[in-house]
Formats: sequence, C-alpha cells, structure tokens
Amino acid sequence: MNVLVVNCGSSSLKYQLINSDTESVLAKGLCERIGIDGRLVYQKAGLDKEFTEAPMPTHKQAIQMVLDALVNEKTGAIKSLSEIDAVGHRLVHGGEKFSSSCVINDEVIKGVEECNDLAPLHNPANLIGVRACQELMPNVPMVGVFDTAFHQTMPATAYIYGLPYEYYEKYKVRRYGFHGTSHSFVSKRVAELVGKNYEDLKIIVCHLGNGASVSAVKNGKCVDTSMGLTPLEGLLMGTRSGDLDPSILEFICQKENLTVSEMLTVLNKKSGVEGISGVSSDFRDLTAAAESGNEKAALAIESFCYRVAKYVGAYAAAMNGVDVIAFTAGIGENDDNVRSKIMGYLGYLGIGLNEEVNKKTHGDDAMISTADSKVQAWVVPTNEELAICRETVALVK
Ligand code: ADP
Repeated sequence: MNVLVVNCGSSSLKYQLINSDTESVLAKGLCERIGIDGRLVYQKAGLDKEFTEAPMPTHKQAIQMVLDALVNEKTGAIKSLSEIDAVGHRLVHGGEKFSSSCVINDEVIKGVEECNDLAPLHNPANLIGVRACQELMPNVPMVGVFDTAFHQTMPATAYIYGLPYEYYEKYKVRRYGFHGTSHSFVSKRVAELVGKNYEDLKIIVCHLGNGASVSAVKNGKCVDTSMGLTPLEGLLMGTRSGDLDPSILEFICQKENLTVSEMLTVLNKKSGVEGISGVSSDFRDLTAAAESGNEKAALAIESFCYRVAKYVGAYAAAMNGVDVIAFTAGIGENDDNVRSKIMGYLGYLGIGLNEEVNKKTHGDDAMISTADSKVQAWVVPTNEELAICRETVALVK
C-alpha cells in the first residue's frame, strides 16, 4: 500500500509518499512559508527537485498543492489520489495518554488537544495538518505516531523531577522525552545488525542531530532518555542549551533585563554549540572554524562530545551495563570526528574504535568498534518517515 507521511509544523510541512511493500520513497518534499507566501518543493524518485512559488495562506492549500503535485500528469508519482491508502502523521506530544501510535478519530484528536499545553508550538500545528488532510481525503485512514510514545515505558524513578509531587499530579510535569520514533527505529535496527534478540539487549541510542537526545533501551523498552518535559533538556544541541542550573534563568534575566519567556528563547534558539562558538549550529561550519583556529568553535565541539559521553556513562549505570551503542541522525551518521571524540571517553567500557571504518562511515550502517570490543558501537541511519509508514500500515491493514 501507499502511505503519505506528513510532518506538519506551524509554517512548514514535510511529506513523503512511501510504498510500504517495497519500502521505497515514491516522492517527497516540503511546503515552506505557509501563511507567509508559500513554496513547494517536490521530488519524484529518480528525478530532480521541482520548486514552485505559490501562495499557501493555509495548511489546507499547502496539502492541496502536495496532492496536485503527486498526481501531476508529467511528474506525479501516482495517477490518482485513490492510490493513497493511508496517511501517517507525526505528532509531537502524546503526554501520558498515548503510549503507542493510534488510528486518528475524534477522541484521539481531543486527547492530543489536551496535551497542547505541553507542546504549544508543535501539537496545534500537527493537528492543523491532520484536519487539513481529513478535509481533503475524508475516506483515507489516518494514523498518529507520537514522538513521546516510545519513552512511556520509563519507570517513575526516571521520569519524576525533584519538584513538589503536586506539580506532577496537577500539571503532569515530568520527563517525557522526544525523538521516540527514531530511538525506537534505531534500537530495533541495531539489534538486527548485531544479530541478537531485541529483548535481550541493553542499547544506548545517541540521536545527534540539530536537536539531540540519548536513550537507554533495556530488553526492548526505553528506561530513560535525556530530553524532558520539553526538548530543551539534556545534551548540548545546535541552538539549545540542554541541562543547566535552573538558577541561571533568574540570574541572567536580572542582569540582561529579560523576561522568562525571552530567556527561554535564548535557551532554545541562541544557545548550544551556536551560542558557545558564535559561529554556527552546523557541525560542518564548526569543524571548519575549529580547524582554522577558532577556539570557541573547538570548545563547542569538545563540550558537545563530553556531554554525550557523560550521558552514555549515566545510562550504562542505569542499565547496569550496555551491549551496544548506536549513533544516528545528521551528526551521529556523518561526523566521524565527533564519534571518535565521544568514543575516546568510553575506553573504560571496554570499547575500542575501529578508526578506519569510523573515518569512512557517512550515512551507512557500520560497526565502528573493534572486533574485540566488549561493547559494540554502530552507526545506524535513522528513518523516521519509514518508521511512521510501518506504524501506519500495522494499524490500518
Ligand atoms: P534535525 O532533524 O534535528 O534538524 P538532522 O538530524 O538533520 O537534524 O541533523 C542536522 C545536523 O547534522 C546539521 O546541523 C549538522 O550539524 C549535522 N550534519 C549533517 N551533515 C553533516 C556532515 N556531513 N558532517 C557533519 N555534520 C553534519
């Protein structure tokens, strides 16, 4: 069957049409600047990208343009919309309500709306995409796949914050974790690659992209993860601060005369490796700057790697050991220098880095630890769209 995978943000929408039998991408692209002016990027498999500037005042119009492109006589991937059998939506926050993907109906939409508080920028935008698709494809089944669902198996010891318990009871303030679709996909895939039962392994997944998080997956279940109530906690990221002393908030607000919400913008958008380096959030730019002598860029890269290594250590402790470490997402899949630096901290676990394989691994599956390592380390490309497609098929078939 053909599944349209939709990831809808407030002003953009990414899509892929996937044939679930062959797991091949028939077409993909994105709509940008929805509500501002509008630009459609569309690419049929095997052809060049097409760019179309056209007004997209609403998400419904954006999705209509995607559907028109998919059935376009010349470059369409399908002949008619009846060839779209299901739609899989990425939904960011499912709170404690959703511990797995589900077929979208009115009750599910209501449940997601109840979690809007926890992800005010993402959930409402996701739902706009769901509603627009429902209006344009009223008879096509839709599935919601939550970023938080995979982490719902965490025990209370891992998800409770050291705050008055009533904040958890009244407001559901707790660790939720994100990138769940990726952590789930990569942990299962690495078990296959290692050739062992998923349920018998202790796996640490390092999802290192612009947003970055680590998860501990023990016997097939997530037991801890570095992101929290929001994706701001945990690792140092492209522009997010990750963990810090909460008192810094008030301290800087007073010094710089900022409101809490302005300070949160700083923590989300102007911090992380970009904030430290003053150069960029992109590791390619940081590496180039560090190589030409920029010390702050070098510090940003080192601090990033150090934090990842600290989380790996923490999760090895949390699981009383680790069998496999997997690197994924933009940095994890491509940046051999970052992987080498992180691995440099992990000798105590009995891991050796196969420098040669590590150096030449960019975006492919590969074991980058030495054959005699006690713990295996792998690079495993993530594929959240394919994971959403699989979940969708499993629920609508
Ligand atoms: P997100 O989905 O969170 O936006 P990605 O997983 O796409 O992030 O990762 C994007 C980041 O990956 C870029 O900001 C960059 O730092 C890093 N990256 C991508 N390609 C490379 C590369 N070839 N070498 C080093 N870093 C890379």
